[in-house]
Amino acid sequence: MKVFKFGGASVNSADAVRNMAHIVQTHLESEPLVVVVSAMGKTTNLLEKLVPGSPECETQGQTLRKQLEDYHLGIANGLIPNDKELVGKIQSLLHELDETIATLQPLSEHYNYNYDQVVSFGELISTTIIAHYLNHHGINTQWADARKLVVTDNHFREGRVDWTETAERWRAMSEQWNTEGSAPQVLLTQGFIAGAKEEEDNLQFSIFNLQFSTTTLGREGSDYSAAILAYCLGAESVTIWKDVPGFLNADPKFFPDTVKINEIPYDEAIELAYYGASVIHPKTVKPLQNMGIPLYIRSFIHPEAKGSVIGNYHTISPETPLYIFRNNQILLSVYPRDYSFIAEDNLQVIFGILSKIGVRVNLMQNSALSFSICVDNNPQLIGRLIEELKSMFRVRYNENLQLVTIRYYTQQVIDRIVAGRPILLEQRSRLTEQIVVPLDK
Ligand code: ASP
Ligand code: MG
Repeated sequence: MKVFKFGGASVNSADAVRNMAHIVQTHLESEPLVVVVSAMGKTTNLLEKLVPGSPECETQGQTLRKQLEDYHLGIANGLIPNDKELVGKIQSLLHELDETIATLQPLSEHYNYNYDQVVSFGELISTTIIAHYLNHHGINTQWADARKLVVTDNHFREGRVDWTETAERWRAMSEQWNTEGSAPQVLLTQGFIAGAKEEEDNLQFSIFNLQFSTTTLGREGSDYSAAILAYCLGAESVTIWKDVPGFLNADPKFFPDTVKINEIPYDEAIELAYYGASVIHPKTVKPLQNMGIPLYIRSFIHPEAKGSVIGNYHTISPETPLYIFRNNQILLSVYPRDYSFIAEDNLQVIFGILSKIGVRVNLMQNSALSFSICVDNNPQLIGRLIEELKSMFRVRYNENLQLVTIRYYTQQVIDRIVAGRPILLEQRSRLTEQIVVPLDK
């Protein structure tokens, strides 16, 4: 069994959905193809503004709600003109969304819960449209509700997967196919969304009638969904269809002459995601590595091209430097007021503050009397961080910086990237060079 994942950009218009359907059609096999789909285009961003308690919800709610409806009906109509049944399905989901929004309380302590109940409609609507379209095209497609098939705890906006329970549900479903001979050609489900089980029940009989609250797996979490399903099904492979030709050695937004990496070891992909490479969601690789399932990254624009594969390799191929750029960084240096050394006790206090506020450290370095960290400059969090640190330390900082990570560096490559800018912080290990430089020359 294979798992395909299509992100928002691959289904953002009627033409895009047609292209996606064509890719699916050319890969049908005797076993069901499991297809994971995200919300169409930028729908998740729009839905975030409809969450009760978000600033835009009150002021722009109606306009945005209309935009959401027009966008999806437009795509549906572009796919199959005047299909009353499809329009009815979309309208009924939109109606359910309105009812959900009306019942949620706009309290800040409910925000994460509200968020998941609302934004999940992006994936519900996209998969409803696409399943209908595929069936209309003669591809036998079963729509599956990921809220009942991917089980998490109730940590809203970042649900943690219950692997045993999730695997059990997928096993039950594939068994049902086998005994009843009811396997579809395509099993289509939502990425990103899941369900927190709220009551114990008898799995065998009520698997599709559980009580649950919707959860999500974190922004851009559909890649992770695909990996979860592949893990639970023991799939042969996962393919992520993207708008780039594969795994590039740098983000083409920052770099004119990128190189496609054909083969990437699992560990390398995990390292790259950790440093901030945005090709795949950071949590995606681990479950695949555990099961030895290869992850293909291919272009939905050139589906005939080979793309890249993350798998059981020793080194990347071709061997070439890899670059990860993180903009909008702030470099904070703290100095103990009493000129005490930076030692375990001071570090413990600093890390306590970082973890309490929820700031992730991208790079750190210490000397006898100072400790420096490079972090994303998120104004809300950083304001609080500086406040708290100031109660115990002297704090200095530089803003508007870029953190560049180069794997497999050479001095020539570093010089090219630095391009005469002053280096504020540098760290070098055997394989990795990291530098913090001003964003503007
Ligand atoms: N639709 C979700 C998002 O935009 C999940 C995803 O696309 O992976 O974050
Ligand atoms: Mg997306």
